[in-house]
Amino acid sequence: MSFATTIIRWHAKYGRTGLPWQNKRDPYAIWVSEIMLQQTQVSTVKERYQLFMKRFPTVKSLANAQIDEVMALWSGLGYYSRARNLHRCAQTIMTEFSGEFPRNIDQLESLPGIGRSTAGAIAAFAYQAHTPILDANVKRVLSRFFGIAGDLQNQKTTKELWLKAQELLPKSAEKMPVYTQALMDFGATWCTPKQAKCMAEPSAQCPMMKSCFAYQSNRVYEIPAKKKKSASPSFQTQMFLVECGEFVLLERRPPKAIWGGLYSLLELPWEQLDVAPVKITLRNAPKLIKQTVLGEQQISINDGQIISVTACNPIDHIFSHRRLRIYPHILQLKKKWSLTPGNVMWVKKSHLGQIGLPQPIRLFLESSSR
Ligand code: SF4
Repeated sequence: MSFATTIIRWHAKYGRTGLPWQNKRDPYAIWVSEIMLQQTQVSTVKERYQLFMKRFPTVKSLANAQIDEVMALWSGLGYYSRARNLHRCAQTIMTEFSGEFPRNIDQLESLPGIGRSTAGAIAAFAYQAHTPILDANVKRVLSRFFGIAGDLQNQKTTKELWLKAQELLPKSAEKMPVYTQALMDFGATWCTPKQAKCMAEPSAQCPMMKSCFAYQSNRVYEIPAKKKKSASPSFQTQMFLVECGEFVLLERRPPKAIWGGLYSLLELPWEQLDVAPVKITLRNAPKLIKQTVLGEQQISINDGQIISVTACNPIDHIFSHRRLRIYPHILQLKKKWSLTPGNVMWVKKSHLGQIGLPQPIRLFLESSSR
């Protein structure tokens, strides 16, 4: 029996069911789910996908939306460049493809945020195209099955895996959606990094066992080669929640920065974690505010007097490759500072739900307003 037939039969019995993005043929709905599922757990995506699709049911509605609203709906999902790319991509589809997703794989791949595997998934699900996928789970399945033990970051290994992925596709175009779904589900639930089903006790089971190189050579957990993990560097920063009555002062972060495009508190430049943070007082606060990362923006600090400075409990946040300890401070003002137009602005507390905020900042703002 071919690889494709085996995995399609496996899917009929063990594949995931009941996920809101399954069995769709609309390329827009498929695309949104594929982007959301990158780096985010299925359980989180399940709920957020439905909210997103309810607010933006079509590519046109997403293209016409304000980026702030898109970022707000993405809040908490992390990897915010995905949300910015979704918005840009929707606008490109409207302007360059008359609102229709291209069917051609090269055109799909040329769109913002769509890589080769995502383009393959959209084309296979929506158009039954013979286009393979090769996400991290599929790379693991194929490297084990064929005994491709090289480093998955290596271009030669990746090229070999793409060739294998292409060779394994079912002959019938009609089978492409179910085959693609089956391969995704198999990698996510059966041939997992640390609990491959073939190694499960008491009754090891996997329909691929007889032909799987890794299983037959007893190297399931050696393939693919493990990436050497480097320790995540740790940093610290001090942040300022500047409040005046109903308003808080927020900075919209530059697109390429961490939390790019989201609104956050003014912050001092990051430093190594082992440096003792400066104690913030009524006296030194105005000088420190001027040192926050504001680019060309001008804040007339002398316009309003700071009436209190309160140090709050530190917040530890883990990014994918670094750790950050935030020392937040609340600064109460008598009168709002005037601002030149730029990325820093006064935002009404009642509007905070409508803008994109990084998750730890949102939680801090919520707790400080109680
Ligand atoms: S036999 Fe084991 S390693 Fe091979 S495909 Fe099945 S679960 Fe994965």
